[in-house]
Amino acid sequence: MIPYLDLKSINLAHQEELKTAFDNVLQSGWYIMGKHLELFEQNYAQYNQTKFSVGVANGLDALILSLKALNICEGEEVIVPSNTYIATWLAVSYVGAIPVPVEPNWATCNIHPDLIEAKISSKTKAIIPANLYGQAAELDKIMAIANQYKLAVVEDNAQSQGALCNGKLAGSFGHLNATSFYPGKNLGALGDAGAVTTNDETLHNQVKVIRNYGSQVKYYNEIKGVNSRLDELQAALLNVKLKYLPADTAERQRLAKIYDEQLAGINGLTLPQNAENCTSVYHIYQIRTAKRDELQKYLTEQGIGTVIHYPVPPHLQKAYKELNYQQGDFPIAEKIANETLSIPLYQGMSEAQQMQVIEKVKAFFS
Ligand SMILES: *Cc1c(COP(=O)(O)O)cnc(C)c1O
Repeated sequence: MIPYLDLKSINLAHQEELKTAFDNVLQSGWYIMGKHLELFEQNYAQYNQTKFSVGVANGLDALILSLKALNICEGEEVIVPSNTYIATWLAVSYVGAIPVPVEPNWATCNIHPDLIEAKISSKTKAIIPANLYGQAAELDKIMAIANQYKLAVVEDNAQSQGALCNGKLAGSFGHLNATSFYPGKNLGALGDAGAVTTNDETLHNQVKVIRNYGSQVKYYNEIKGVNSRLDELQAALLNVKLKYLPADTAERQRLAKIYDEQLAGINGLTLPQNAENCTSVYHIYQIRTAKRDELQKYLTEQGIGTVIHYPVPPHLQKAYKELNYQQGDFPIAEKIANETLSIPLYQGMSEAQQMQVIEKVKAFFS
């Protein structure tokens, strides 16, 4: 059996340090908004090469709080990728705005910069590029378009901590950037967690106030905020795991390169492709084939775990029926949803395990 992802072994690799971190929080008697969070916010901002980082409850909240800080409201439009996890769209809906989808580049699966301008209207206020599957979107081009039209950019960087566009880190381009530390993400907590990063001090303060009931001074509320705090325990655990992120990323990239080499040249199989000047940290190693369902069934029978990211694009989800999109409206996103399959890739995966995945994929196509 080769699991799609072995979270237990990933976390047990740091068992002693994680237990010490837990003990420190337990012994401190202080569980919300304390020194572990402050330290994590400093550490994550430093890692991400942004001036500020604000810990929040999860990745979806990181997106919602970013849009609230930008004061995006009812009836305004936000450009989103047609191919993304639904959270990118939901954040827009939660502030009452309308998600306006733009198709991806088929090669990279990330939002196509050349298709954005046609979707900009007088109501457009922001663009949310998602850095999908671990690859930085073409953020330099997207920022140029945003600057030209005076739009805000919020990166959805839940999947791509450490990826680069022109040598600059994903999660450091946007006016605000949202990330997730969901357990299965490249930097995973042992529960829900997320963060917003920014270089803008005013926006930074705004997110901090919103996450804590709209209050800077306890029991004095400037605005109607929410409770979306990152607790001390998760912050302490994340401080341990952040130290290993660069090594984990290098390991994921090493494993991806082996797949790239070993699975190259198979007829009917598309491998991940990076945009020029963009790199991937391979949150997901995504392969594409018209025979996706048969391939998944075959790999399951062979004891190899796989996942489909994602089977239904947001515009065809029941949750978005009010937008009245039909099958065929976003054909590239739909084709990706029909053909995509994520195969096992995680730090700690052995050479023998990876060779077995490669052999079985090859066997299926031969
Ligand atoms: C995981 C994810 C999110 C949401 O993060 P949560 O912490 O689960 O709320 C948002 N966008 C993308 C692209 C994601 O992969």
